[in-house]
Amino acid sequence: MDAVRIQEYRHRLLPIVIGFVLSVLFAGFVYYAGGTSKVYTNLMYIPIALIASIYGWKLGVVVALFSGLLIGPFMPITVEPRLMQTPENWIVRVLVYIAIAYLIGFVTDISRKRSLEIAFLFTHDSQTGLKNYDALRQELTPPEQPTTIISLTVTNYEEYLGFFGYEFFQKIISEFSKRLSEVLLPFHEAELYRYYGLEFAIQITHEDEEASTERILGALNMLNEKTILAGEVPVYIEFRMGIATMNPNEIPLDGMRKSMVALRFAFKNDLKLARYSEEMVLSYKNTVTIASSFQEALEKNHIKAAFQTIHSTGTGKAIGGELLARWIRDDGSRINPDEFVPVLEKTELIHNLTSFMIDCGLAMAKMKEYRNWFISINFSPTDFSEKCILSLVKKVKDAGVSPSRLHIEITERVLLGVVNIESHLDFLSRHGFIIVIDDFGTGFSSYRYVADFPIDVIKIDRSLVLKANTPKGFGLVKSIVAFCREFKITTVAEGVENKEYADICEALQIDEQQGYFYSKPEIISTTKE
Ligand code: C2E
Ligand code: CA
Ligand code: CA
Repeated sequence: MDAVRIQEYRHRLLPIVIGFVLSVLFAGFVYYAGGTSKVYTNLMYIPIALIASIYGWKLGVVVALFSGLLIGPFMPITVEPRLMQTPENWIVRVLVYIAIAYLIGFVTDISRKRSLEIAFLFTHDSQTGLKNYDALRQELTPPEQPTTIISLTVTNYEEYLGFFGYEFFQKIISEFSKRLSEVLLPFHEAELYRYYGLEFAIQITHEDEEASTERILGALNMLNEKTILAGEVPVYIEFRMGIATMNPNEIPLDGMRKSMVALRFAFKNDLKLARYSEEMVLSYKNTVTIASSFQEALEKNHIKAAFQTIHSTGTGKAIGGELLARWIRDDGSRINPDEFVPVLEKTELIHNLTSFMIDCGLAMAKMKEYRNWFISINFSPTDFSEKCILSLVKKVKDAGVSPSRLHIEITERVLLGVVNIESHLDFLSRHGFIIVIDDFGTGFSSYRYVADFPIDVIKIDRSLVLKANTPKGFGLVKSIVAFCREFKITTVAEGVENKEYADICEALQIDEQQGYFYSKPEIISTTKE
């Protein structure tokens, strides 16, 4: 017999023994007090009520029957003189005892069932019946066996919600949860949890850590990048996973956090699967440090604007340039814009950067050395709010600079992700600003924007320009240039690093060029200390 069953057996036996011992004690007391005619007979209710109220009606009835028989056929009404009970007398008493035990036990069983149901609701997801995040959070003791936690999230699942609506989204959740449960069914060591939306966790308690996790990952992968049927609709599902193996003294919540760090890493680096490592936490810390120290850096003049010229292909002369942010710490070390801009974009701080760059751009526009040049500034998606746009227009007006000298660089992320972008761009265009599509060729690069939005300039991304020395790449850029010409859109080649590419751009009749061949971004004097 295994340890669990012995434990269960003891659990049931103990209350019966307690009930029987109490009944025997009280029955003895009834006898010595003089028989069932005495008031002490009522003591027999105590073990019956006690056991029924704690352990339910079944054990209660057993104790009631035993107690009733103890003071039944062999217990006299009066011991001295010895007068025995009639059978109806003790039989009715036994039945009353049983009825009382049943009633008390019945109420106990119902309330226990209720509290179990409530506890179930707290720890289970009502939609799928799977355990929820709280179930995992409540496990406060470190597991005895090695444990691995996998966090699994369906990519861009919020889009399904936006696209199909709430009710159909619930169908997708139910169907995908069912499929996950089926995949995990053969693995008794795996338990599935759902937190929210299409975010899940799998806890694996295993003997053989690696092999078991690998088998489960293999099974899960069969479900990845597949179509599931929700209702009658085939829905394409792609997910990413973060894995963490828990140390012996860690509770499931710690494992959970680690697997989420790994999951975040997987999303950031476009991986299907990432395993937790300490370095990942470091990158988290860096992100927090960037967000928390940016404002101070701005005040301390650690944030600078660098300017990189943009040249006309025909004359090779500079006709304008792009402003690029630089973060230089006290010790001279630098943080790349590719590192800090995405962090700032997740917070309101990006407006402070954009506003700073606009101020620098306007200060430059008024300086003699940049006279007649345009100044291109990078804008982020959240810069497109009414407040930010109105403040830009006012600043430019107050500075007395022609809006046509300010180029507003946006990527496809802005076009696709900002609500009302069309009206914002129309407004800016009507005020004379020049709208530039940055990094063209890296996203969806749909020509549709060109018809839908007031676009003046397209900057062909460096990755496309680099391919222009092959027949295929040349042809591709050529078609972009031809198309832009049709729509009277100016073309700019990005990342022109040498004469070979400058010549290719000339052959392609790209209007303007930017790159190290012409100049490197240089910190401008308006922000120099
Ligand atoms: P971007 O807007 O595409 O800027 C062009 C990037 O290419 C700049 O990198 C520039 O230094 C680099 N570059 C220029 N010529 C060459 C070349 O010939 N070869 C190569 N390999 N690279 C060249 P940087 O300055 O590191 O900026 C990176 C990105 O950070 C920018 O890409 C832009 O998306 C973002 N960024 C920079 N400043 C700002 C800003 O003030 N606001 C916002 N929202 N984003 C900014
Ligand atoms: Ca840019
Ligand atoms: Ca660019």
